[in-house]
Amino acid sequence: MEKLVERYAAILDDPEAFRRSLQQPLPICIWVNPHKTTPEAVAAYLQDRDIDFEPLGWYPWAFRTYNWEKPGTTLPSIAGWFQVQEEIALTAVRLLDPQPGDRILDLCAAPGGKMAQIALQMGEDGVVVANEVQVPRLASLRTTIERLGLLNVVSTNQDGRFLEFLPHSFDRVLLDAPCSGEGTLRKRKPQARGEWRAGYSQYVASVQCQLLERALQLVKPGGRIVYSTCTFAPEENETVLERVLGDRGYVEPVPIPELTAMPGLRQWQGQTFREDIANAQRYFPHFNNTGGFFVAAIRRTAAQLSSPPTPSPVILGGAVPDREGIRWFCDRFGCQEAIFQNQQAWVKSKEKVWLSTANCQPLQRPETQNIGISLLRVVRGEYKPTTFALQRFGGFLQRHVIELTEEAVVWRFLAGESQPLNADVTPGYVHVRYGEFELGCGWYQNGILRSQIPKSVRSPSGLLDPNKKSKNKD
Ligand code: SAM
Repeated sequence: MEKLVERYAAILDDPEAFRRSLQQPLPICIWVNPHKTTPEAVAAYLQDRDIDFEPLGWYPWAFRTYNWEKPGTTLPSIAGWFQVQEEIALTAVRLLDPQPGDRILDLCAAPGGKMAQIALQMGEDGVVVANEVQVPRLASLRTTIERLGLLNVVSTNQDGRFLEFLPHSFDRVLLDAPCSGEGTLRKRKPQARGEWRAGYSQYVASVQCQLLERALQLVKPGGRIVYSTCTFAPEENETVLERVLGDRGYVEPVPIPELTAMPGLRQWQGQTFREDIANAQRYFPHFNNTGGFFVAAIRRTAAQLSSPPTPSPVILGGAVPDREGIRWFCDRFGCQEAIFQNQQAWVKSKEKVWLSTANCQPLQRPETQNIGISLLRVVRGEYKPTTFALQRFGGFLQRHVIELTEEAVVWRFLAGESQPLNADVTPGYVHVRYGEFELGCGWYQNGILRSQIPKSVRSPSGLLDPNKKSKNKD
């Protein structure tokens, strides 16, 4: 940490305040998922548990919370009511400014907090292509999409530097680049707080330059790219913009008046940067009691690409439209088919039925990993509903719903366990609910409820809400 303070002392207004802020715990920021609930319901949940919180003020439907243990393991989190995301990272999508009907690329998307902000802000007319190179991180991206119930996202798994799309395919591109991560120091345990390493920074800067080059190729002339990192290192921020933009893009002023920021640097260790780079925003932790972040909104000019990429066709395929699964779901759970009227189901490899908004189409190149959320699986020729689809549409379901009333039963269900239960439903798949929380899929037969909760959201056996006030509340 000392080396970090020393390295940036010359550009900081108050190095001592910077040092102190790095030692303070970071408030936990959450934003509310409009597909599942309202800010009022989340506020009531927090109040009920004596958790201190305040609205963010500069970003809608978001709260800063102070004494909250493990928010990601609570019932509202499992039910997809909110997303935990570092406050300052929300600035990237604020600058991207997604509009209804846009087609937006998130080039480096996992675990998906910003992708989700984009998908929700655009409404269901728009489409997000969420790309991630690392397969294990793709799983975390998929969980974010499914848990929040996002139907307007197609995910792909390619190296973003060579992502196969025709030039100018997107209205906006988010490049939240891999980086040395200095700005996340407050989140990390002391033993995981490494110092800035010139070698790594140099390596990652060359990847960042290639990714920004590809973003410039894929956005439309007049479109916007947001370049962001969670590091202070000018080598990965201003230097990347200086090396790559040329006459193909310029950094626009898009201030966030409610937050304190420092302009992008004009000079660093003998290097001078072009004037528009001062329009970028540097956030140091002591400015707004957050992590550190760098963000720049780039307007693409009409200048030609230096080396136009070989066009590669983007064709539909890999999945075929289907309505039979939707009919089965409505029949089993007693809901109107009209709730799916603006949506399309897709069958891929006869194993899975996906559900997306009607204008979110599967791709063949680059191959679609996911489209929207999974509605059903096909197990031994029979449909099995997914927990995430039941959570997303739980409020509409009338039949084969089990309402749990005891907290201990709820947590055993969420741990994936089977348990005896008296319920008035015919054998088969059921939707399980606890008060206002739509929990997901179970199998009910012979007085036993078998949990079908997927591993990705399962809680350890016996875990109870650590913030609960009394035994009678969840
Ligand atoms: N935007 C994400 C969010 O809000 O949750 C965080 C992105 S994180 C800063 C950068 C991501 O880029 C990592 O998941 C990393 O695996 C991925 N990545 C690294 N190199 C990449 C490449 N060449 N192409 C695509 N993704 C890449």
